[in-house]
Amino acid sequence: MEMLRAVRRWLAGAGILLVLEGVFAAPDPVTHLGRQWYDLERWGAARQLTTRWTPQTRVLTLTNRTTRLALAVDSQQAVVNGIKVWLTQPITARPPGWLISVLDADRVLGPLLQPVPPRPARPVHTIVLDAGHGGRDPGHQTGAREEKRYTLLLAQQVRAKLRAAGYRVVMTRTRDTFLELPERPAVANREKADLFLSLHFNAAPDPAIRGAEVFCLTPNGAASTHAPRSEVLNQSLPGHRDGTRSLLLAWQVQKALVERAGLTDRGVKHARFAVLRDLTMPGILVEAGFLSSPEEARLIADPKFRDRLAAAIVEGIERYRRWMEPGAQTRSNR
Ligand SMILES: [Zn+2]
Repeated sequence: MEMLRAVRRWLAGAGILLVLEGVFAAPDPVTHLGRQWYDLERWGAARQLTTRWTPQTRVLTLTNRTTRLALAVDSQQAVVNGIKVWLTQPITARPPGWLISVLDADRVLGPLLQPVPPRPARPVHTIVLDAGHGGRDPGHQTGAREEKRYTLLLAQQVRAKLRAAGYRVVMTRTRDTFLELPERPAVANREKADLFLSLHFNAAPDPAIRGAEVFCLTPNGAASTHAPRSEVLNQSLPGHRDGTRSLLLAWQVQKALVERAGLTDRGVKHARFAVLRDLTMPGILVEAGFLSSPEEARLIADPKFRDRLAAAIVEGIERYRRWMEPGAQTRSNR
C-alpha cells in the first residue's frame, strides 16, 4: 500500500493522476452510533486533500489543487467546488478528529471528487423530459399560477434547445393531461432513454424562500434529505443502478441553474420520489425556483427567464455528457 501511495504521489506531481484514482486507499472504517464512518482527515489525505479546521465557524475545509470541499460539524450541508450538496448524515465530531459516514464518502462526495465513469459510458442520445403534474393535478398553486402550466412551458423550451443540439427528446406529456406517477418513468424505460429529467417548481410557507434544488434518488441504506435521519431504508431499487451518474447529472444541472440562471443554491438533495425509483437510466428531479416567492413567481411566469432556465438545464446536461465521455477524466470541465 505504501508503494501504491508513493506511485500516486509521483503521478499527482506529474499531473497525470488518472486511472489510479479508482483504487485510492480508503482508510479503515470505524463503527460509531451503529453506523460505519471514516476518520475525515485520513479519508481526505487518501485523496490528497488537506483538512483545515476553523473553530469559530466549525467549518472544515478540504482542499487540493483542483478541489475545494467545505463541511460543517453537526451539519449535512457540504459545498463541493462551490455547489451545495446534502449529505445523508451530519459530519460528527469525535475528538481529536471528525467522522464522515462511509455511505456519504463513497456514494455522495466520492463520485463528485473523482468523476471517473463507474462503468463504460453510453452515449447520451435520447432524453425524456417529464413536465411535472398536469390535468386534474395542478401541482403547487399560488394565486392564479399553477405549477403544471409552467412545468410544461419549461419542458417545451428545454426540448427545443435539446433538439437544436441534436438530441432525440421524448416528453411524458405534451398537453395539460393527467399522468399517474409510475407512468412517467415507464415512458423513459420504454423509450430506452439515456437520461430522464422531471421538471417542477417549488413552494414553501415562507415567501422569502427561493432558489434551485435538484433531487436524485436516495442511496440504498440512507435517509432522504427531508426525512428524519433515523428513517434509513434498506431497499434496492432499479434507480440505484445508475445512482452515481444521477448524482453527477444533478450536480451539473444544479451548478448551471445557480451559475447561469442566477438561482439561489439550495443544493443537490436526496429523495425516493416515485418518478426516480424505477428508472433504468440516470435521472433527476429539478425544482427550478419557488412559486411561493412573489419575486421568483414573477420570473417563472416570464418566458425570457424560463429561456434562461432552459439554457441552464441544457448546459448542465451537456457538461454531464462531456464528463461521461470515455477519456474525459480530467477536471477541466468544472
Ligand atoms: Zn411539482
